[in-house]
Amino acid sequence: MNFYSTNHQAPELSFKEAVIKGLPQDKGLFFPKEIPSLPASFFEALPGMDLPEIAFQVLQPFTTPDISEADLRAICAEVFTFPIPLKQVKGNIYSLELFHGPTCAFKDVGARFMSRCLQAFTTPGKPVTVLVATSGDTGSAVANGFLGVENVEVVILYPKEGVSDIQERQFTTLGQNIRAVAVEGTFDDCQHLVKQAFSDEALAKDMQLSSANSINVARWLPQMVYYFHAWGQWRKAQPQEVSDAVTFAVPSGNFGNLAAGVQAQRMGLPVRYFIAATNRNKVVPDYLETGNYTPAPSVPTIANAMDVGSPNNFPRMLELFGQDDKALKETVKGYWTDDAPIKTAIRGVNEKEDYLLDPHGAIGYLALEQYLPALQTTGIFLETAHPAKFRESIEAIVGSELALPAQLQAFLNKPKKAGSIPNDYGSFTAVLQEMANTSPAS
Ligand SMILES: *Cc1c(COP(=O)(O)O)cnc(C)c1O
Repeated sequence: MNFYSTNHQAPELSFKEAVIKGLPQDKGLFFPKEIPSLPASFFEALPGMDLPEIAFQVLQPFTTPDISEADLRAICAEVFTFPIPLKQVKGNIYSLELFHGPTCAFKDVGARFMSRCLQAFTTPGKPVTVLVATSGDTGSAVANGFLGVENVEVVILYPKEGVSDIQERQFTTLGQNIRAVAVEGTFDDCQHLVKQAFSDEALAKDMQLSSANSINVARWLPQMVYYFHAWGQWRKAQPQEVSDAVTFAVPSGNFGNLAAGVQAQRMGLPVRYFIAATNRNKVVPDYLETGNYTPAPSVPTIANAMDVGSPNNFPRMLELFGQDDKALKETVKGYWTDDAPIKTAIRGVNEKEDYLLDPHGAIGYLALEQYLPALQTTGIFLETAHPAKFRESIEAIVGSELALPAQLQAFLNKPKKAGSIPNDYGSFTAVLQEMANTSPAS
C-alpha cells in the first residue's frame, strides 16, 4: 500500500519508505491511499480468531508488498504474545485491558510492531539508529519494544529530573542495543536535540537515523487490531439476537488510538459511536461542541499521559471522515473531566465493582457512564495502562497498598545505567559519533 501526506505537498511513499521516514517533509501525516473493507467472512470468523491471526488479516493490506506474507505472520506472532482481555466492569460497561505487555501500557503494541518492521527493512552492517525523546512512557515502550532487535540501535533522551523512578528503570536497565542519555534540561530540550540531529547533514553521512515517534504508521496501524479483538470477544459472549454495534470510549491525548479505532470502523468493524474522552486538555471535545479547533498549552493532570494541548493525530481523524466535520461529529462524541471525578470514579469502582481503574481508563469509564443511557449500546472503554504505573496517586485514592505486576517488579531489581549530558548539541553528537565509530555488532 502507498501512503500520501495529509498536507498533499509531499510524494506518496510505500509502507517501507513511510516507516523509515516517519514524517512527510511537508509536516503532514502519512495516510493510507485506500482503506480496504474486510469481508463478511472475516467478521463471522473473528470471535474465534486469536490476536496474531487478527493482526495478520487486518494489517496485510497495508504492509503488502514490502513485507512478505510469511514475514508478516512471524512479526504478528512475535508482537502479540500477551493477552488483551475484555472484562465486564458492570452492566453494559466493559474494560479492554491493554496493559498486559512488557511495560504495562498500550504503547507496547505499536512499539513492538514498529521495531520488527524496521528490522525487516534494514540490512546487516548498515544499522539504523532510532532517536527518541521521552517524558516517560514512550521511552519505556520503545526501549522494550526494540530490545534485542538486530541492526537497530536506540538512543533515548530524557530530562534528568523529569521522569519517575519506575519510568527511568524501564529504559535504563536494559543494556544491549538500548542506550539512555539523561539531559540536564526539560523534555522540550530533549525533543529539540533530537530534531536538530534529524536536520544535521554531516551526521546523516555517518549514520542512518529514524524516529519512533507515535505518528509513525508502523506504530499507528497495529492499534486497530485490538478494536477488532474487543468486538470479537464481546460478540462471542452474546446471545444471537442482540444488536451488533458497540461504543468505544477512548482516553485520548495525541488521538492516535482513537484514529486507529475509526479506521477499524471504516474497514467494517460494527461501531456505533466513539467517545473522545480527555482530561482538562480538551481541545478535541471543545471542537466537537463548538466547531472551533484551538490548540492550547497543555495543563498538568492526574492522567498525565494525556496532557497534550496540540494533538498530533488530529489531521488523521479529519482525513478518515473525508474532511467532513459533520460526518465526524455524527460518529465521534466528546467528553472531558477534571481530576476530582477521576479520583471519585477510581475509589467508587474499586469499592462497588472490585475493579481498579487507572486515571486514564477512569476517564473512559466516566464517559460511558454519561453517554450510555442515551446511546443504548454496549460500551467498551480502553484501559490504556496498568494502575500500578501510577502507584502513588492510586494508593492515595484507594487508601491501600498496590502490588506491582511482575513485569514492573522485574525492573526494580536491576541497576540503572545511563549517560548524562548537558543540554547542548555538541555533547549529544559526541555520543552519536562515538556510537558510529564503535562499529556495532551485526
Ligand atoms: C499515550 C497514552 C494515552 C493517549 O493515547 P493517544 O493515542 O496519544 O491519544 C492514554 N493513556 C495512556 C496511559 C498513554 O500512555
